[in-house]
Amino acid sequence: MIVNARRKLGAVDLEALELATRTALHRAGARLLEALLEDTADEHQPPLCTCGNPMRCEGPRPKQLVSLLGTVSLRRPYYHCRHCWRGVAPLDRDLDIEGTQYSPGVRRLLAVVGGETAFARGRVLLAELTGVEVTVKAVERQARAIGADVAARAESDRLQAALRGFPPQPGEPLGTLYIEMDGTGIPVTAATSAGRPGKDGAPARTREVKLGCVFTQTALDAAGRPVRDARSTTYTGAIENAEAFGRRIYHEAWRRGLHRAERHVVIGDGAAWIWNVSHSYFPDAIEIVDIYHAREHLWELSRQLFPLDRKQRRHWVRRRQKQLDEGRIEHLVRSLRGIQAETPELAETLRIQAAYFEGHAERMRYAEFRRQGLFVGSGVIEAGCRTVGGRLKRSGMFWTVDGANAITALRCAHLSNRFDDYWEDRAAA
Ligand SMILES: [Zn+2]
Repeated sequence: MIVNARRKLGAVDLEALELATRTALHRAGARLLEALLEDTADEHQPPLCTCGNPMRCEGPRPKQLVSLLGTVSLRRPYYHCRHCWRGVAPLDRDLDIEGTQYSPGVRRLLAVVGGETAFARGRVLLAELTGVEVTVKAVERQARAIGADVAARAESDRLQAALRGFPPQPGEPLGTLYIEMDGTGIPVTAATSAGRPGKDGAPARTREVKLGCVFTQTALDAAGRPVRDARSTTYTGAIENAEAFGRRIYHEAWRRGLHRAERHVVIGDGAAWIWNVSHSYFPDAIEIVDIYHAREHLWELSRQLFPLDRKQRRHWVRRRQKQLDEGRIEHLVRSLRGIQAETPELAETLRIQAAYFEGHAERMRYAEFRRQGLFVGSGVIEAGCRTVGGRLKRSGMFWTVDGANAITALRCAHLSNRFDDYWEDRAAA
């Protein structure tokens, strides 16, 4: 018998069978969904119009909805005001389907794929994975609308917290709270970049997305290196000026327990805005210039000092890097200033680089930072920039500020594991 069944099964195209079964279940599920929605349809009292007059029920009106189970049609009571001609279907608001033909479940998926990948690719993936067929434009519209809503709710949270004066959050004491900041350029439309100076007088075709992340660290590994607390990293970001970004990252640090942390650490590259934000919002923080950026300055300089001699270049970098890693920045600066430049250009480069190390000397005491068990690299935010920037930098994409900020908000919510909270809040509202 078993042998027979196996033989029979062997002749079956299982892939076709499971897809067909899923399609049938979806169809049955859609009918079930319709029946469930039917029950909720008549629970409404006639609402009052915004003009103050009672509205009159005009009977049920049909609405087609694209759901996770396919298209469902529902009939919901429709009310009409005879004074100002306003019409409303209260059930639409309850179901969060006002002004849209997509169910919340489908919109959530559209936001996920639209935040993750190019809209056209998102449409293909969605159809392949779930059987839900939508247009590319629908992916784009919904991802942007939900991203904008995520951003707007975060903005309102920031205002609320600011009005309350950022009171200390209750909870257990935290170890070290890290705040990392970075910027990444993304391609924008001509209108978005208009009036902004670019390189060599050409209009800039990119704008900088400023990104920040916050995470905590309590433990060291066996070798005494810091270990980031699992699932402790949250991200936030937007195209905006440093002042607005300062408020954004401060709020993020506050909600993550700024007041409960034993110490604060800010890590960034050499960009002046990062240190201005740090100075204004995190005055007690230990400030650290990402060690890999600092080393990259040495490598860049070595290429100009020894353009032809790779061996000498490596030898030179090794010695300077030792000074850097040990945090002996004054020695490093003296070494740079002691170099006899053969051209005025090289002299200028040396002057700028010496000033860079000198200006950040206190942020480069790497040996001391390591002794204190601190991270000295900004790998976390750079990974964040690669994933957010990577989504926005796909070839052929040009963004508006609003569009880029909506997708950035989606991406950050997802990376911060806050997407579930967003849908719960939305349903509760
Ligand atoms: Zn009215």
